Amino acid sequence: MASTLFDLTGRIALVTGSSRGIGRSIARGLVEAGATIVLHGRDEERLAATTEAFVAEFGAGVVQSVAFDITDADAVVAGIAEVQSRVGAIQILVNNAGVQHRVPLVDLAVDDWDRVLRTDLTSAFLVGREVARGMIERGSGKIINIASVQTDLARPTISAYTAAKGGLRNLTRAMTAEWAAYNIQINAIAPGYIHTEMTQNLVDDEKFNSWILGRTPANRWGTTDDIVGPAVWLASNGSNFVNGQVVFIDGGMTVVV
Ligand code: NDP
Repeated sequence: MASTLFDLTGRIALVTGSSRGIGRSIARGLVEAGATIVLHGRDEERLAATTEAFVAEFGAGVVQSVAFDITDADAVVAGIAEVQSRVGAIQILVNNAGVQHRVPLVDLAVDDWDRVLRTDLTSAFLVGREVARGMIERGSGKIINIASVQTDLARPTISAYTAAKGGLRNLTRAMTAEWAAYNIQINAIAPGYIHTEMTQNLVDDEKFNSWILGRTPANRWGTTDDIVGPAVWLASNGSNFVNGQVVFIDGGMTVVV
């Protein structure tokens, strides 16, 4: 008999920022494991194109979508309420949507600092709080926050991102401290350098690219598919006593100097 440990059949999962990149691959992995997926983004056209592709592959019965800005507190409340009434209770939440902004710290404008902190940290609080209210009531749930190797390591020119991703580690712990007793497992995945639109300019930069290869024991960029297995595990019963952890999926980058 096949193992049911990682089976997500019948569960409803929302992945923020799943119109492209890492979120899209995680969404694919969850629906392949049996979940009903709620795709999400801000750009409605891009979201519609991704939704159409998912419906063509997996069928309309298990694919839904919702667009809202994760930095807007009112839009988050309305968006989550819409999902819960149109699709059902969210049992798996992946806080994935994020942005990067590269500029030396002395040149960083307050508006950009605020925008990055709001998108990469405050949003996980806003969406997480809204979804957790239902999970607490039902006494079960899975929340996965997408952190980064910058949760642990700094690099020049990405200070706001580094501060936000470091904060996400402790937000994961704070959520665990308050919600784990309600049978909600909250963990973070910290990807290494993954080839997506966000990092395309780095892949194209020969010097940076060879630095990455040398700095990564696995000697390659990660792919969005590399994140899928750990995401399915943390969304499934296979992780029911895993609480407040940050799992680094980085080809070994954070264990070497
Ligand atoms: P992409 O830039 O490819 O995709 C970002 C996604 O987030 C898009 O779907 C975008 O939607 C959505 N998004 C951004 N801002 C908002 C907002 N305000 N409201 C709603 N949706 C929003 O990113 P990646 O796939 O590369 O990254 C995904 C996550 O993984 C991020 O948290 C990132 O920090 C993290 N990460 C990425 C790494 C990498 O190497 N790529 C490494 C480590 C962590 P739209 O197009 O509609 O704006």
